[in-house]
Amino acid sequence: MNHKNQQLLKSAFDELQQRVTRFSAVEQKLKDTQDQLDHELTLYKRLSNFNSTALQLNNAELINQLAVETIVDILEVEAAIICVKDCSNGKKSVHTEGISSSAISQFEFYSIAQFIDITENPSKVKFVDESFFSQIPELSAYKKGALLFLSEEKAAIEIGMLGLISKQKAPLFGNFCVNQETIFQIFGQQFLALSSSLIQNIKIQNQLNEINHSKIELTKLSLIAKNTNNNVVIANAHGEIEWVNESFTKTTGYELDEIIGKKPKDFLKRDPQTEAEHNRLIEALQSKKNVTVELINYTKSGYPYYNHIEIIPVFDENGNHVNFISVQKDITHEVKARNQILQINKRFETIAEKSQIGIWEWEAETKETIWNSILTDQLGITRTVLPEDFYTYWKSCLHPEDGSSVLEKLHEFMNSNNSILEYEYRIIRKNDFKIRFINSLVIAERNAKGEIIKLIGSNLDITEKHEAEVKVENLKQYYESLFHHSPSQKIVLDSQLNISFINNSFLKQQPEWEAFIGKNLFDLTHQSMGRQQLKNLRRLVQKVSDAIDFKKLIHYSDTFITPSDKQMYRLINVFPYFIGNELQYVIINGVDITELKKTQKTIVTKNQELQKLNNELDNFVYRVSHDLRGPLLSIKGLVSLILSVEELDDNLLEYIHLIDTSTTRLDGTIQEILEFSRNARLEIHRETFNIHDMVQGIFDDLRFASEDQLTMTYESLCGDTIYSDKYRLSTLLKNIIGNAVKYRKTGINDSYVHFKMAETDQKIIISVEDNGEGIAEENIGKIFKMFYRGSNTGIGTGLGLYICKEIVDKLGGSLEVVSKFGEGSKFMITLPKK
Ligand code: ADP
Repeated sequence: MNHKNQQLLKSAFDELQQRVTRFSAVEQKLKDTQDQLDHELTLYKRLSNFNSTALQLNNAELINQLAVETIVDILEVEAAIICVKDCSNGKKSVHTEGISSSAISQFEFYSIAQFIDITENPSKVKFVDESFFSQIPELSAYKKGALLFLSEEKAAIEIGMLGLISKQKAPLFGNFCVNQETIFQIFGQQFLALSSSLIQNIKIQNQLNEINHSKIELTKLSLIAKNTNNNVVIANAHGEIEWVNESFTKTTGYELDEIIGKKPKDFLKRDPQTEAEHNRLIEALQSKKNVTVELINYTKSGYPYYNHIEIIPVFDENGNHVNFISVQKDITHEVKARNQILQINKRFETIAEKSQIGIWEWEAETKETIWNSILTDQLGITRTVLPEDFYTYWKSCLHPEDGSSVLEKLHEFMNSNNSILEYEYRIIRKNDFKIRFINSLVIAERNAKGEIIKLIGSNLDITEKHEAEVKVENLKQYYESLFHHSPSQKIVLDSQLNISFINNSFLKQQPEWEAFIGKNLFDLTHQSMGRQQLKNLRRLVQKVSDAIDFKKLIHYSDTFITPSDKQMYRLINVFPYFIGNELQYVIINGVDITELKKTQKTIVTKNQELQKLNNELDNFVYRVSHDLRGPLLSIKGLVSLILSVEELDDNLLEYIHLIDTSTTRLDGTIQEILEFSRNARLEIHRETFNIHDMVQGIFDDLRFASEDQLTMTYESLCGDTIYSDKYRLSTLLKNIIGNAVKYRKTGINDSYVHFKMAETDQKIIISVEDNGEGIAEENIGKIFKMFYRGSNTGIGTGLGLYICKEIVDKLGGSLEVVSKFGEGSKFMITLPKK
């Protein structure tokens, strides 16, 4: 081989050698590329694995967990952290792989953003080293890391991802390669897309659910609106009706067809009474606010009803006002019932106030007490000062001596099954520290188990009543002591006729009655009672019954033998005391009339003797007068005979005249004594007769006797017939008319006597008037006295008017006189008609 060839060969060999070297380098390169591609493929496979698995999962929690594992796989790191934040609600979910999640539970992932600049290439992978981790205590053990922040505005999501290699394990791990950066970036984008679509899905799902739900709600609502008993009106934003339910039509009488497009106020006429409420409604509607009012509206047929109206303005999602929904209810019955209750309550309040009853109410459930002002007045405090806990306050007012027993009673009552408790106690009033007596009534409202639901109480201040009772008790004792010290004997029976009291005077005379106190009058018997006592008792029972039956005081008398063996007479009064028709008590009052009885007996005997004597005297007077008249009339006859036949000298004539005058006067006196005696002796005999004839006869007799000019008149305003004692009336008138003539003025010729008669229902009134000489004032009182004569003219006897007075008295009438000396007199006789 030549050199040249050798040279050539060598260079060819060198070239070959070079080629071989080059080839092996290429081969190595190819191999490396192959490896890299394989690695890349593995990483992509891992990525695609994540995608396919994640897409199937459709659950954020599992996807996040898978993602954190994938980070470890694709970055080929020791540990990884992933944090997903839902910005719409600020919720974070942190997942870890290869690092304890508890170690970073408190770790604010995003705080690490401050240590790197994420503003430059915000969504790019950043590689960090020891200097970065040294600033974060939780991650200070790590040496290398790849960090990626991603966000999606629409889904409002932010994601932080971190792959980590610790200092300790760093030698085992290689460096991050470019491919890993790319894959991490791609993974990040994919995870973000997946998470945001997942979040959006969930949101859509929720919205769908919501829509479904509200659809159901709407169906339900419309059903309710349709079928409810309330009246439902839906109106547009102008208040014009779009729809009403059946109940509305039923209440108002208006069908939907006739009111659609109208405003309710245009046809549901309003009562002026509720105008203020209506104004409130208008105001709320204008300012589109919820409102509740009560109006008096009228139905189509003009019937008024109380309408409870609630109006709700409805807005769409953009806040535009679209509708008014109004729910109305005819509450006429409720209002009436409410008014009735109010009225009853008011009446109750008034009654409580008028009768000064303090009222309180305690609710078991709320433990609340309400009370009226009477109650606070009773305790001596004003409502404003009273603390909330009324019960404690009331307890503090209880009188120390009554407090524990009152509370015990109340406690017992609360634990019993009773529904009413009534008790009395004392309180010390707070304002003046006075002791007041209170009567309390507590009524418990219980449930089926007997537990108290409510307590209602009334308190009445009975201090005055109590004081009155004490006074009555004192009075009772006072009267009992009076009764005991009274000399008369007294028994008091109560309304049931039980013996409630016997005084000492009675018990002294009949001590056996002590055992009867408290017993009934009808049950009294005693072995020691004698026959007379039993008889007396039976009579007493009978008289008490009579007094009650006739409701009047009954008197009677009885007699009995005293313990000292004396016969005693007693006058007994039985007095039943009634209030209305109710018997209250019976007082039996016995007065010892033994002495009286004796005196009475003596008087009766004396009286009889006197009567006998009187009669004898009357008889004697009559006889004497009668017997005296005979000889007197004989003398009178003889005197007139002498005067008619004899021629007598003047002296003798004067004597004979004197005898004549004296005998005439004596005869007058005797006649009047006889009249007096007749009036006294004879019974009254009334008859009907003509008084005109009688008066006329008297006038005639007198006219003959008088020589002067004299007018005598008769006048009657009640006819001429009267019913009376004819004989006595004749005597009476003869005397009075006779006096008028007798005492006329002498020397005048216009003398008169007027007789007048009139009557009332019961009486006859007669007057005899004259213009005679009259009677001096000082003598008027004397003229009716026996033997009084005004002058010594010798014509009178002084007996006439005395007899007249006796007659008038006997007839039950009266005789009066008015007279003026020198002018005349008027005598007035009043007689009973029957
Ligand atoms: P006498 O018999 O005196 O009339 P009377 O009892 O009839 O007695 O009257 C008593 C007195 O009353 C008379 O005396 C007379 O003074 C006076 N008297 C009675 N009637 C009249 C009279 N009509 N006018 C004046 N005086 C009278």
